[in-house]
Amino acid sequence: MAESRQTVSETLAGIAERRPVLAPVLNAFAPLLEARAALPEKLAPMLEKSGFVLPPWQQERAQQGAPLLAGVSLNGLFPLLRASADALLPLLGRLPGMAEHTEALTAFFDREDMCLRAADTLLTGHDTALAEAAEQSNIPPAVLLFALETVVGPVLRTLAATYDAPWDERPASWMQGFCPVCGSYPSIGYLDKRVFDEKNAFLAGGGGKKHLHCSLCGTEWHFRRGACPSCGWEGSGVMEFLRESGNSRGERIDWCTKCKSYCPVVDLRERDGTPDMDALALGMMHMDIVAAQKGLIPLKPSFWNQF
Ligand SMILES: [Zn+2]
Ligand SMILES: [Zn+2]
Repeated sequence: MAESRQTVSETLAGIAERRPVLAPVLNAFAPLLEARAALPEKLAPMLEKSGFVLPPWQQERAQQGAPLLAGVSLNGLFPLLRASADALLPLLGRLPGMAEHTEALTAFFDREDMCLRAADTLLTGHDTALAEAAEQSNIPPAVLLFALETVVGPVLRTLAATYDAPWDERPASWMQGFCPVCGSYPSIGYLDKRVFDEKNAFLAGGGGKKHLHCSLCGTEWHFRRGACPSCGWEGSGVMEFLRESGNSRGERIDWCTKCKSYCPVVDLRERDGTPDMDALALGMMHMDIVAAQKGLIPLKPSFWNQF
């Protein structure tokens, strides 16, 4: 999208101002989110050096629902993973309940074979391999998964950023509710703003198209509003949404009446500026609590939405 986004800290400051009760949690996560957002720029030259390239987009594979990185090994990207771990593990260790695992996690990300094998499981969804790695390294599986996503994410973002055209400009070729690059489920979605044609000063589009945001690799893609990203059901009455009364600034939860999965969504037509989506996903945790009380399941489990 054309409009520039707020930074992580700008977004978090805006949330804390409106919801002071969240300030301690936002402050705890801020250094990690900021460091993650800054990493791709530092990793880009390393990626170039590695010679690792994103496979080309293939219409046929996309129509079959295969993400670009499906079946691709991250072999060769260890220097980037290592750099990411060096930058992020110390910050991860400052989060509540994480300090006691820092030593084991640091040792884990020092070992190329283990680290790469585990990173590949994020792309294959091979949970048993991840559980085995967790057991071998004496790290609780949920902690290892969170650390892996934290460390691998910026590397995948650096890779995804080399893709030359926005995914949104490829309508119809990707119909899935999971990411076209890495296959991960979205952590948040947004309805886009009205588009003005500056030359003509006419409204060029009414906005309101739904986009999903991959928290792992940062890719965003268009998705049908009446369809569930999880089970694929589509039609009137399948998707419902929950929002707070009063000025919610477009923040809501879209949930599926068929499979009970949900995803936070922000309607950008109801607010000024465009937030950093990863920071806003964290800042909407009060909606995660409402969803949990309703028995809904997060489409993308995060460190803060497992109740
Ligand atoms: Zn992705
Ligand atoms: Zn569903």
